[in-house]
Amino acid sequence: MDQGRRNFIKNTGLFTAAGFLPLELSFLNSFSGADFDPETSFLVQNTHLISMDEQVGDMENTSILIMNGEIIEIGHDISPPAGIPVIEGSGAIVMPGLIDCHWHLWTSLLRSMAGYNEGQAYFPMTAAYSKVYTQQDMELAARYAAAEAINSGITCISDFNHNARNPGFVMASCNTLADAGLRAQVLYGGYRDQPSNEATHFDGITEILQELRANEKYKLLELGLGSRGAGYEHLASDWEKARELGMRIVIHASSTDAQKGQIQQLYNKDLLGKDVNIIHGNAATPSEINYMKETGTHLTMTPYSEMRIGYGLPPVNSFHAAGVNLAVGVDTTPLSGNADLFSVMKLLLNLANAEAKDEFYLKPSEAIKMATINGARTLGMDEITGSLRPGKRADLIMLKKDDLNFSTSDQPHSLIVEAAQPANVDFVAVDGRILKKDGKLTNFDPETLVEEAEAAFHRLKREVNQ
Ligand SMILES: [Zn+2]
Repeated sequence: MDQGRRNFIKNTGLFTAAGFLPLELSFLNSFSGADFDPETSFLVQNTHLISMDEQVGDMENTSILIMNGEIIEIGHDISPPAGIPVIEGSGAIVMPGLIDCHWHLWTSLLRSMAGYNEGQAYFPMTAAYSKVYTQQDMELAARYAAAEAINSGITCISDFNHNARNPGFVMASCNTLADAGLRAQVLYGGYRDQPSNEATHFDGITEILQELRANEKYKLLELGLGSRGAGYEHLASDWEKARELGMRIVIHASSTDAQKGQIQQLYNKDLLGKDVNIIHGNAATPSEINYMKETGTHLTMTPYSEMRIGYGLPPVNSFHAAGVNLAVGVDTTPLSGNADLFSVMKLLLNLANAEAKDEFYLKPSEAIKMATINGARTLGMDEITGSLRPGKRADLIMLKKDDLNFSTSDQPHSLIVEAAQPANVDFVAVDGRILKKDGKLTNFDPETLVEEAEAAFHRLKREVNQ
């Protein structure tokens, strides 16, 4: 959109689900008397909107009307229905909620526990703990992670459950995420000591799919396949079954030099596609990157875990230059420590410019896209979330520009990528439901949750060391 048109909109009109309306027409939209649920309806007023939608763009001193979880209008002269809750947005930035496209929530109780010798390294450590986890531990780990996610401005998560010993262990994630109010893709994976001759649990998958699709409680959740590795002999038939069930597919591939060629193998079997999210890809070759572009396959980078474990640097520029849809993830807090997607955006932008030896190589807006609309595309949810425009669901966050680390600048994109931290997230809503307000979680008591997580961690540690 050119600046002239943007200014015209800024000054004279608003956006509605029917499209842009000039100011006079906006008066036709009277919401007085309209039905709304006060739990999922509110007006944000006088805010600086970073919509990440090409039509809406950025708008200063604007208002956003949310009714029943849906974005109804964005503009300067909204007449909200009487009695709707009002959120003051002056001095703040409102943007889409951050989308995490790869996280093993169950490992969250093991934060920063990847050690510095072979026996305590990430894989053997998590494998040992995975065997002593109970279903209650799976539930608690997901709850601990979900609370951190909301606190950090994440509104949508792809949870790759790879301690899926039985359907109950996966339902632990589903129930927790549904109760937390997050939007999510839950992936039914395998588990660390799963024998290669044990079939993928399609009985459990079907059972959970039926439950999720039949019950309103799970309306923000989708079940996908957390695929076994590229070398698994029944991979193609697993993917075929998943696709028949309408599930998206996620696989770790070409993460290390030793795994070079895995994306090529998937391409050779004609498995890649728009419903596939490849995790890591640090060792992807130029031709594999082109295959991903050609087939519309998505890539999720998790730079903190990839770098910490020694997979190498995320080849962000090669993927970006090829036009592959790039998303981001926390992956696993035993390696990444926390769930700060602001720092992931900043790291990727800095890596990109460093590699290009170019101060201007990656625009901050490109980094923000990776954590918002690109993530929504990766999860097949871009019609409902990932950007803010009328007709989409209200998954949004507000960053208040009154903190020592987050103030003074008039460059909001750079501020979001370079300066913002989870502590600056003042307000979070998912599907119109307010999950953080005035800097406080509405659905969790962090103190109790931390006590529970500490107790579970110490109990698990004793069991592992027995
Ligand atoms: Zn992973």
